[in-house]
Order: sequence, then C-alpha cells, then structure tokens
Amino acid sequence: MLNNFQSKRQQMVDAQLTPRGIRDKRVIDAMKKVPRHLFLDEALWPQAYEDHPLPIGEKQTISQPFIVALMTELLRLTGREKVLEIGSGSGYQTAVLAELAEQVYTIERIPSIAKRARKLFDTLKYRNIVITIGDGTLGWKEHSPYDGIIVTAAAPNPPQPLLEQLSVGGRLVIPIGNEFSQDLIVYTCEEANHYSEENHGGCRFVKLIGERGWRD
Ligand code: SAH
Repeated sequence: MLNNFQSKRQQMVDAQLTPRGIRDKRVIDAMKKVPRHLFLDEALWPQAYEDHPLPIGEKQTISQPFIVALMTELLRLTGREKVLEIGSGSGYQTAVLAELAEQVYTIERIPSIAKRARKLFDTLKYRNIVITIGDGTLGWKEHSPYDGIIVTAAAPNPPQPLLEQLSVGGRLVIPIGNEFSQDLIVYTCEEANHYSEENHGGCRFVKLIGERGWRD
C-alpha cells in the first residue's frame, strides 16, 4: 500500500506539477513525501492524488495538488522561514509548508476541522506546526513578523493586518477576486508600508470568512 501511494505521488509530480512549471526541487521533494491521502476520508483515498480539489466536510475542500505546489513555490522558502497560513482545512498544505520552513503557524475558523488537523499533525509528528482556531483575516500578531503568509481561501482584497504582519522582504500569497473566481496574487513587502504586486493567474477557492474577508 505504501509503495502504491509513493508511486501515485511520483505520477502526480510527473503529470501535474513538472509539466505546468513547478521547478523548485525542495517543493517537488515535499510533494513526493507528504502522504496527501491521510488528510482525506479513507473513502477518498483512491482519488487522493488526482488533479482536482476534494471535499473535507463542512462544505470545505482540500486544494488541488498543483495549486498547493504553486502557492508553496511562490513563497520561495529556503528552510529558515517563519510562515503563517490562514485556512488550515485538511492540514495538507500546512504539512507541505512544515517540510520547507522552520516554523508554521496556521489558523482555522471551523473548530471541528481544526481539531482533526491538529490530531493528524501529532500523528505524523510535525513538531514545527502550531494550529489555532480563530479568524485568520486578523493575522496572528503575537508571532509576527512573518517571512511568508499564505491564505488558502478567497478574499475580496488583501486583509490589512496580514500585510502589516509581513517582514521586510516577506511575501503574502492570496487568491483575490469575487466568490466565483480569483487571481493568485503575491504581495511583497519591499520596505515598511510599501508592497509590490504580482499576478499568477486564475484560481478558485472557497470563501475567506471573517472581519476582513466575506461576511458569514
Ligand atoms: N489548505 C487547505 C484549504 C482548506 S479550504 C487544504 O488544502 O486542505 C479553506 C479553509 O479556510 C476552510 O477550512 C475554511 O474553514 C477556512 N477559513 C475560511 N475563512 C477563514 C478565516 N477567516 N480564518 C481561518 N480559516 C478560514
């Protein structure tokens, strides 16, 4: 079984990631390593490495593998960073980040989802992940500034607290748009209060719900 999933991960990399331009060797290695199926209900394991999002309960989804790889690559992690993730969901993206950064903080608004993710991080022995329940649109000031912030839900515009919690040189990767379609935007903090903006194309996420996101 293990080897079977290992070969599925290799196929996922070869068919979905490399041909679409994912180049960062560390990102590829993390995608080959993290057992994506374990972040899903067992009934979905046969589909775990397919090229689309899947349901994780509470009307939420685990992102498509390519989107996880792309957003991770856009953070340009070297292993020394402190990263904040908004929207822990299944915890899969969190685990990929934990392979590539020094420390990962992650916020999830739905308690049942957060509890399941926390349990899995323990089982898989990820000791550099801290998860909390709350409204991630406000960031997590206590541990700021962050070298990278990743938002895995769609926002109408970049939440100001997240921009403010970036270090100089830090990058915020976030889908911006309406509830039906978004563009993946990278905001880089060039100097205090000065951000550059880069568009990495279309995507579709569930809504970011909170004080600086959409209303419930
Ligand atoms: N990275 C996750 C994506 C999960 S979907 C994965 O691959 O599994 C997005 C998640 O964002 C959902 O679990 C949703 O509950 C959560 N979310 C939405 N608004 C939020 C907010 N303001 N703060 C924290 N989490 C939020």
